[in-house]
Amino acid sequence: MATERDYYEILGVERNADDAAIKRAFRKLAQQWHPDVSNEHGAADRFKEINEAYQVLSDPKRRQIYDMVGRAGLGEMGGAGSPFTDGFQGFGDLFDAFFAGMGGAGGQGARRGRRPAGSDLRYDLRIAFDEAVRGIEREIEFDMLDRCGSCGGTGASPGSTPVPCSACGGRGEIRAVRQTMLGQMVNVTQCSRCNGEGRVVDSPCKTCRGDGRVKHSKKLRVTIPAGIDEGHQIRLSGEGEAGPRGGPPGNLYVAVHVTPHAILRRDGTEIYHDLQLSIAQAALGTRARIPTIEGDEDLEVRPGTQPGTEIRLRGRGVPHLRRPGTRGDLHVLVHVNVPMKLSKRQRQLLEELAAESGEAVLPGGIIDRMKDALG
Ligand SMILES: [Zn+2]
Ligand SMILES: [Zn+2]
Repeated sequence: MATERDYYEILGVERNADDAAIKRAFRKLAQQWHPDVSNEHGAADRFKEINEAYQVLSDPKRRQIYDMVGRAGLGEMGGAGSPFTDGFQGFGDLFDAFFAGMGGAGGQGARRGRRPAGSDLRYDLRIAFDEAVRGIEREIEFDMLDRCGSCGGTGASPGSTPVPCSACGGRGEIRAVRQTMLGQMVNVTQCSRCNGEGRVVDSPCKTCRGDGRVKHSKKLRVTIPAGIDEGHQIRLSGEGEAGPRGGPPGNLYVAVHVTPHAILRRDGTEIYHDLQLSIAQAALGTRARIPTIEGDEDLEVRPGTQPGTEIRLRGRGVPHLRRPGTRGDLHVLVHVNVPMKLSKRQRQLLEELAAESGEAVLPGGIIDRMKDALG
């Protein structure tokens, strides 16, 4: 892990904090930062850090080493997959953290053996500019592996059930205890007979051939919130592929793509429009027709408006995703176009304007004079 923050600091506890205080701090932070709960940017990394700190400080031996020589002392023993933890312990504690005070749901069962989870899925969804601004509901359909109906997902033929693995006694893991310089070390490896699942299927279901899953076309209504932008992802927990043999499902990620507007430009919650004015319109003022999210409307441009002026229509931009009820602004950027070609009459008027202001200008070119003669 790249971060080098102090473990005590990460959990926000004193260096002499007791086990109960460390556990309390961890629960509080885990409930706040777990990626399933927090939408905050970087929540997953923060959570990893919190979990790592807890893994060390909740283990008396590792905490002692950390207190004496810091993170370096833990070496390969630090972080996840350490020989001092059995890998499942962290999940068990996390489970406790989430279900504490909720009747202490059966953490024991969850700790015994582990069936692999289903894959996460990604669905690319393209929506229009105004759909992203206003929000929309869309039905999507995709092929995925879903729970087998014949066996209810267990993978065992109807009438039979998976049985506990005899090699590991249903634990899904094989433990070996070794004596080392640092004391007793428990080496835990996954059981190869049941692949760590703790159960084996003797008589596989014919429909899914023991996998517990079948291919299925799934339909789902997805709510796209107002203000979503290109590249945003919506996570639908547990709507991904089913896990084999009843394992937990993966998540579905809907990746949103927004087709740009023909005229308006968007940057986050701000919308920009380039307004082209003539010299006369800028000098005399005008009523310009501009596109907005609510449709075309008139905008009053004051006489004497300078090139580069920004007219800001507050609250006419894109809704904030995280602050419902508030919107960004619509910025109208004024450009003043100098004409490249002039009619005879236009030239005359501009020459008169220059004369009135006492300004020197070039006389009409030879080509223009020829044109005038012909026209
Ligand atoms: Zn089946
Ligand atoms: Zn086994």
